[in-house]
Amino acid sequence: MACVSKGLIVGGGIGGLASAIALQRIGVQCEVVEIDMKPVGAGIGFAGRAPQALEELGIYDEVYATGKPFTEDMKAPVMRDAAGRPLGPPPPVQAFPGSRPPVGVHRPVFADILLRAAQAAGAVVRNGLSVTAIEEGPDAARVTLTNGEVHDYDVVIGADGIGSKVRALVFPEAPEPEYTGQMSIRWLAPFPAIEGEDWYVAGDAGRVGLHNTPLYEHIYVPMVLNMPETWLSQEQAYAVVKDLLDQFTAPAIVELRARLTPQAELIARPFKSLLMQPRWYRGRVLLIGDAAHATTAHMGMGGGMALEDAVVLAQCLDRAETLEEGFGAFMARRFERVRTVVETSVTLSHLEQTKDRDGPRRAQLMQNGMATLSSPY
Ligand SMILES: Cc1cc2nc3c(=O)[nH]c(=O)nc-3n(C[C@H](O)[C@H](O)[C@H](O)COP(=O)(O)OP(=O)(O)OC[C@H]3O[C@@H](n4cnc5c(N)ncnc54)[C@H](O)[C@@H]3O)c2cc1C
Repeated sequence: MACVSKGLIVGGGIGGLASAIALQRIGVQCEVVEIDMKPVGAGIGFAGRAPQALEELGIYDEVYATGKPFTEDMKAPVMRDAAGRPLGPPPPVQAFPGSRPPVGVHRPVFADILLRAAQAAGAVVRNGLSVTAIEEGPDAARVTLTNGEVHDYDVVIGADGIGSKVRALVFPEAPEPEYTGQMSIRWLAPFPAIEGEDWYVAGDAGRVGLHNTPLYEHIYVPMVLNMPETWLSQEQAYAVVKDLLDQFTAPAIVELRARLTPQAELIARPFKSLLMQPRWYRGRVLLIGDAAHATTAHMGMGGGMALEDAVVLAQCLDRAETLEEGFGAFMARRFERVRTVVETSVTLSHLEQTKDRDGPRRAQLMQNGMATLSSPY
């Protein structure tokens, strides 16, 4: 029996909806307020122990069936140069005993799976709402919503992403997210599939990944570029992608370039990072996911960390006598693991902006980070 019975979760993204599922299951009645729920994004991969967290949430099989399963024997992607020549052997595959095979899924499909599972578990999900004030009282946190409603909750979870309003309200001293110098641009390129699924790098210009997604009949193309700008219009994004793809002579990327038109929908997001030092809680309010720890996609683990936060939070609250004890146990289990992901990812991002980018250090950093994550969460 959990030490709290009524919770508010701010943010209906990965961490918010996953914690709604996990907390409902231990008997906490959850309300989720989400500022603007809409089907956005391209692909997301869940590796390491994230599949185990999906399983614990009871949604792994559905994600696997609607995503792009990676079989155990599938090779890890190789990094290739602009002409398509491998820059080294494929990275060694880290074992995660007890976890399920990694899976990649289209973000809007995943968001829908999470939403349905949270509602089926009994959570109330309210779209178009946020919070304007959170006041700590002796028996409850009193929360004012953007529609003027005021409610009391035993616990408030800030799962509202990197620009967290809850963080601004409750932790005004928290650091601001920092730009790492790299921009991510993702493109769902038109089918048919192109052979040569791997990563391709063109020196300082940037790198391009290629993942055929037959289930959705598109090619998921993540790109990473070094640039000072932190925002791009669609026209600017088209221009920089065109310039990037023009650097390659590898047949797969030449074919991809032929399919790029000014109408291509390109999703540009700056890689920013943030690591709140312990504690991520104050009174009855706890931050999870990107609200507490955001990073680049170099390890592909940010969403996985938000899922792990959700399941570990429910485990800790279920076992604790008091909220303080539950939050303390959560913090003790989460900080070092998350720090590894944030710091390794940022180091990889900075390394990619130097001449050393293709040396052995990249593989070593990745291997060390993954080895840390192989232990249970
Ligand atoms: C280019 C890129 C690729 C990535 N690829 C991967 C990958 O392959 N694998 C992986 O595991 N991770 C990946 N990540 C990281 C992953 O996307 C994030 O770590 C993850 O989405 C964090 O989940 P979250 O729930 O904490 O935040 P979010 O997913 O950002 O969700 C926050 C939610 O809160 C809502 N919200 C915001 N403000 C408010 C407010 N004031 N009130 C109410 N609601 C609010 C938002 O609308 C949103 O729905 C990638 C990130 C990037 C940038």
